[in-house]
Amino acid sequence: MRVRPSKRPSGFFTVNPDTRELEFAVPPDLAGVHHGRTNFAFRFNGMFGMGASQGEIFERVARASVDSVLDGYNATIFAYGQTGSGKTFTITGGAERYEDRGLIPRALSRIFAAFKDRPGVQYTTYISYLEIYNEGGYDLLDPSHETKTLEELPRVTLLEDEAGSVHLKNLSLHAATNEEEALNLLFLGDTNRAIAETPMNLASSRSHCIFTISLESRQEGSSTVRRSKLHLVDLAGSERTHKTNSSGQLFREATHINKSLHYLEMVIVALHEARRGLRTHIPYRNTMLTSVIRDSLGGNCMTSMIATINPEPEHTDESVSTCRFAQRVARVQNSATINEETDPSLLVRQVRWAPCTAMR
Ligand code: ADP
Ligand code: MG
Repeated sequence: MRVRPSKRPSGFFTVNPDTRELEFAVPPDLAGVHHGRTNFAFRFNGMFGMGASQGEIFERVARASVDSVLDGYNATIFAYGQTGSGKTFTITGGAERYEDRGLIPRALSRIFAAFKDRPGVQYTTYISYLEIYNEGGYDLLDPSHETKTLEELPRVTLLEDEAGSVHLKNLSLHAATNEEEALNLLFLGDTNRAIAETPMNLASSRSHCIFTISLESRQEGSSTVRRSKLHLVDLAGSERTHKTNSSGQLFREATHINKSLHYLEMVIVALHEARRGLRTHIPYRNTMLTSVIRDSLGGNCMTSMIATINPEPEHTDESVSTCRFAQRVARVQNSATINEETDPSLLVRQVRWAPCTAMR
């Protein structure tokens, strides 16, 4: 849980870093959607107050995930919270100061630095950047973004293979050979994200953005390839639709966002029930968001969620909702394994070479 800095925090909650508990005592007139309940206590794996630095967040939330991706595991970090609570600041960072850079640039920096420490391993890095808006997928790294509107761009669509794995059609994968190239891709994607956004169409509060770093690695002389992915997800604002103007396009957007975060919650509840033996079907396919991050939700992945909170009094209701959601997410258990397979072409080569070596 991370509290966004503010000059006027409500004072309705206390953060106890020792017990990692957050307690709310909400004035009754603000307890609206929570059916008059005024006292809440939530426990988190980690708590970050208003003074927490971006470096601290990276060290405590992301470093272990990044390192496991280097070892061949999948990992996902997503930010959940109402608009203005600091999701984008946490995931991407602030543009003004170097120390404000967020988890994506720090993860890239760590990854390319780690390659140098592992000279015996060959790594290939690919970047993709997907935006999901109104149930449509858009490639933020599509070069035609500059000349086309969002509606004119080819849609990214889901394809499921016979084994049940999900693939994304029309989502480009860009090889990055160094940190600078990868950062340029992030910058390009963020620029495209901003172009599509006008005051009438505040896409960032209604869309989900998924920045994916894919790694392929092979130990020198080995025929085994490891493939792993790190998803960094900036979710749409979690605020409820009743705050949104409900006419025309705005309404359509609001309903959709509501829908995909609602289905995200349903998947999480289903995973929890499945663990207790109460059900077997997990409704991943209801919405594009859960289909895309399926592996990260109860699958083969190390997953962390950062709940971002705006401490100002009028946002108390939403802050409590965010914490309740986080609490449900925390009950889901994943099991991560290394993603390894033998490259058949390399195996053939080794088999061919073997007799020659023996003859010498
Ligand atoms: P969201 O993506 O959840 O809508 P933002 O990340 O855009 O929210 O944050 C809203 C505003 O607050 C931005 O101007 C952002 O720079 C600022 N902000 C958020 N978190 C912090 C922080 N930890 N330190 C300084 N400024 C922050
Ligand atoms: Mg944002």
